[in-house]
Amino acid sequence: MSWKISSKVEAILERGAEGESIERDQALYLLAIPLHTREVYALMETANRLSRQQFGEKGENHFHIGVNVAPCPINCLFCSLTLKAGIFKESIDFSEEQILSWARHAQEHGADALNLMTTGNFSFQRLLEIGRMLKKAVNVPLVANTRDITHDEGEALLDAGFAGAYHAIRLGEGSDTPLKREKRIQTVQVIKKVGLLWMNCVEPVGPEHSHEEIVDLMFLARHYKATYSGIMRRINFPGSPMTRYGMISELEMARMVAVSRLVMGTVPQAHCTHEPHTASLLAGANLFFPEVGASPRDGEADTEKGRGHSVQRCHAMQKEMEWKPELPSNCFE
Ligand code: SF4
Repeated sequence: MSWKISSKVEAILERGAEGESIERDQALYLLAIPLHTREVYALMETANRLSRQQFGEKGENHFHIGVNVAPCPINCLFCSLTLKAGIFKESIDFSEEQILSWARHAQEHGADALNLMTTGNFSFQRLLEIGRMLKKAVNVPLVANTRDITHDEGEALLDAGFAGAYHAIRLGEGSDTPLKREKRIQTVQVIKKVGLLWMNCVEPVGPEHSHEEIVDLMFLARHYKATYSGIMRRINFPGSPMTRYGMISELEMARMVAVSRLVMGTVPQAHCTHEPHTASLLAGANLFFPEVGASPRDGEADTEKGRGHSVQRCHAMQKEMEWKPELPSNCFE
């Protein structure tokens, strides 16, 4: 066995290390590197180094609050909060007291942002009210994660106190979801235009997705200059129609996190992965999402009692990998 890595991989990594981004065919080449090879660890090391240089070793934690549970009629195949999945028969809107208590807890424990997620059929006005309420009560930047929005709705989010919006064009958009890719991209443009930060993840990755589809979304995130855009794998909730495809492993996810990190180059302020795990913290990821309330990956109405990780647990994982969650956020400067 040679101790050297292949010269082709070396040349791509040299370019990636400079932060200028790599080409599409280079990203495809890196995604196909077999796991457990020197090349894949060299890839992860390059992405890790780039993130540490650029993010100053900051470990970011954006606290997800799923503000409502509903049998959502939009029926995205990968989501547990759908009418079709039949897991949640009744809608639950978590009370203001509960949301406030989660937000205060997140602030106390040093979360860097509050990501307020709604189902696709949740009242937009209600989201604005919750935003206004939290803006007065806590000092943590707010990020909305909701349906497609118009220009006026984007401005209303900004007026209500939101600093950013998470909005992903999902893998399988238009086939695994009934939503139109063009409409999702229009929303990203609205977010950018009104002056909200656009936050993104290539998601929800499963073994059935082609490298071409995955790389396409990585470059879309670079093109529209996402504040962050890493990788989230699909979690197959109990009874998920996607169960037949299986799930990718955390190590496969780490390889993708590294490739997406080199694609993003100097564009982002952080690099995310979900759900929280350590492998990607060695591959360029520095941003986790602790979670409470509704989650499209969980069969529990409150993911705090299910799959969700606490802020403290996310901090502990980051500290074990020598990231520093106590530093100020890079995302909202
Ligand atoms: S992903 Fe969002 S829009 Fe799609 S079914 Fe789940 S809650 Fe509804």
